[in-house]
Amino acid sequence: VRGYEGARVAVLGLGRSGLSAARAVRAGGAEPVCWDDNPAARAAAAGEGFACADLTGAGAFDGIAALIVSPGIPHLYPAPNPVVLAALEAGVPVDNDIGLFFRSLATPDWDGFVTAPRVVAVTGSNGKSTTSALIHHILQEAGRPAQLAGNIGRGVLDLEPPGEGAAVVLELSSYQTELARALTPDVAVFTNLSPDHLDRHAGLGGYFAAKRRLFAEGGPDRAVIGVDEIEGRFLAGQMAEGPADDRVIRVSSGQKLTGPGWQVFARKGFLAETRKGKQMASIDLRGISGLPGAHNHQNACAAYAACRALGLAPRVIEAALHSYPGLPHRSQVIAEAGGVTYVNDSKATNVDSAAKALGAFPRIRWICGGLEKEGGLDALKGTTGAVAKAYVIGREAAAFAMQLDVEAEVCTTMARAVERAMEEAEPGDTVLLAPAAASFDQYDNFEQRGEDFTAEVEKRLK
Ligand code: ADP
Repeated sequence: VRGYEGARVAVLGLGRSGLSAARAVRAGGAEPVCWDDNPAARAAAAGEGFACADLTGAGAFDGIAALIVSPGIPHLYPAPNPVVLAALEAGVPVDNDIGLFFRSLATPDWDGFVTAPRVVAVTGSNGKSTTSALIHHILQEAGRPAQLAGNIGRGVLDLEPPGEGAAVVLELSSYQTELARALTPDVAVFTNLSPDHLDRHAGLGGYFAAKRRLFAEGGPDRAVIGVDEIEGRFLAGQMAEGPADDRVIRVSSGQKLTGPGWQVFARKGFLAETRKGKQMASIDLRGISGLPGAHNHQNACAAYAACRALGLAPRVIEAALHSYPGLPHRSQVIAEAGGVTYVNDSKATNVDSAAKALGAFPRIRWICGGLEKEGGLDALKGTTGAVAKAYVIGREAAAFAMQLDVEAEVCTTMARAVERAMEEAEPGDTVLLAPAAASFDQYDNFEQRGEDFTAEVEKRLK
């Protein structure tokens, strides 16, 4: 990290990204001063020789040039973090690892980054990981050196120095875009918007505002924007100089886009690209096994558009879409037996992503439930047409089941839910884990929940 040589930089939160920030600060010739409420995390930092200090004390920010905050720490809402407050009161700038990364990119010859990489940054409510992983996969298949970082892959400050012509694909959550002081990707992607993380952004407006920062003035050279919600249409309208401005590539899943600008859309299983009223390419997406369902066709369009913005040819992208292996816990087919398909979509942690999964299969035994998100389950109404029955897990399974408009059995545990769904499944059914809830009431994270589901299924198929 460049820009803080000789200065003291405070680091709040000593998980993976916090420790990597502390290392990068030190490598850049500055002195990190670390803090985490958790003594074990402080011990880990001390073990690497980092000084720890309680940053809420009087004068704690004297002589400190910046505060770097981990994305896992709520800094502003629902209640301001005391360390962040202390920094603000002392007039010290608050930033995060993403801000440090962009700040360093602006400085030539940073840590061996002799040629600045092309940076593609992806944000949105759903499909960020899939879209980022897909862009990364396409670039690699096209023979372009690329690294995946941010919310997925490596921490941004742990990247290898990229070589000539290299690209970095960054997945950015709203927590990350909200805090970063510098956000200057070459290509910025906005997948879609639906309510999520509302407690940390004080509502939908705050959440959208956090994501929009990636598209601020002086931001990306090119923006790929999903326009299936009003927020995306608004953003596209604001970024473009006029309807034909091809700085913006509009993306849709479902709508035929007919504007005079640059657009990529999917309809009835086909992707089409048009530019200045001319058809540039079309691709048959049906039968691409790594990208099932209309939501994945949206991801395919966004990744396609981002790669076009980077100058790749349609044919090259098409070939790479076919070889995309998919990501674990996202619409992942884990087994097929007796005519029944088992799909792990543990990453469907909110109502909107679960609704998408429910639209991707014909007859569903639906395992759902967990820690309910703010906003309730109302948005699931009308999306459960393919559900034969729900098997509800979670500590509050009964309260969850009560809100569903399908037949629901309270199972509480994953073991019970899998057992019952398998007993009742008929050939042609899909047993689908798509919880529409967070996992933290029963698991450490959604990955652990998906692994539990997979293990329970495999155990019974043996
Ligand atoms: P994110 O990184 O934004 O959470 P993922 O690619 O990990 O997105 O997908 C999360 C979940 O959201 C998936 O399990 C899937 O059910 C759903 N999903 C994926 N892509 C989309 C999309 N474009 N629109 C809506 N839901 C999606």
